[in-house]
Amino acid sequence: MSGTTVAALPAEQGDGGEAPGSGAPVVLAVDLGGTAMKGAVVAEGGAVVAELTRPTPGGDILGALVTLFHDLREVAGVAEREVVGAGVATPGMLDEQRGIVHYASNLDWRDVPLLDILQGELDLPVAVGHDVRAAGLAERTFGAAQGSDDFVLVPIGTGVAAALVTAGGTITGATGAAGEFGHIPVVAGGEPCTCGQRGCLEVYMSGAGVARRYREAGGSALSTRRIVARLGSDPLADRIWGDAVDVLAQGLTILTLLLDPKVVVLGGGVSHAGDALFAPLERAVTAGLAWRERPAIVASGLGGDAGRTGAGLLAFTAAR
Ligand SMILES: [Zn+2]
Repeated sequence: MSGTTVAALPAEQGDGGEAPGSGAPVVLAVDLGGTAMKGAVVAEGGAVVAELTRPTPGGDILGALVTLFHDLREVAGVAEREVVGAGVATPGMLDEQRGIVHYASNLDWRDVPLLDILQGELDLPVAVGHDVRAAGLAERTFGAAQGSDDFVLVPIGTGVAAALVTAGGTITGATGAAGEFGHIPVVAGGEPCTCGQRGCLEVYMSGAGVARRYREAGGSALSTRRIVARLGSDPLADRIWGDAVDVLAQGLTILTLLLDPKVVVLGGGVSHAGDALFAPLERAVTAGLAWRERPAIVASGLGGDAGRTGAGLLAFTAAR
């Protein structure tokens, strides 16, 4: 095994003397991101039997992903678990039915037939899902949106996205590109975005956006987390963060009027800002919605594990 970080947890012990593969069935799940590949062996019910996370390489991402799946299978074998499927959650625009990633900028992928490749390599039923929508599925099954048929999950990290669940179904759109919440142009004629538009939500409210705007306004090069820690004692931090919260509130106001979600789940690193985020955000969304109640706004229940757990859920579905 060529693992860099291995945290294999012992499987529940049987009575002893069980043949390999006699444990409860498991699936192999990977949340493929631009910086890390978060892998796990997941049991039905979402329990993580073992985890294996590696940095996403600059070069052969596909080769590294296949190796990670093989190594996860080996870990499952050591834990004497029968592997019934595999699932991967990936960013980008994809055809989830056919398992083709049409375009993923941070992986530098175009038209990669991921499902066929993994099925050929692993000889297992394979599911390919969109990372944010897979995370939404996990939040709905085990996390902060449990039991809700109408909710949105908004991960706020380097950028911003959304999983939109309405009447129990996830909205994917005609080209698989639904949920680009971070690129809603909320500020007319605003600052340019890397996507080519101006005034996008994530230009103002994202880990990268807050840090960049603080720096460009004369502040030092600090992470968003450290900028938030200066609130109340640093007027520039107050102003940049205030802009970010206002822009997010405007986006959530639009989303609420369009979709009428029961709950808005905020994830990603920025959601760890706690009261500095939730208190002013709730006030601003309430003020923005003049004639109707606002939905509950809560923090993710699964955090950074949501994508991986969602990939596991998709794998169990593929295995059935
Ligand atoms: Zn944009």
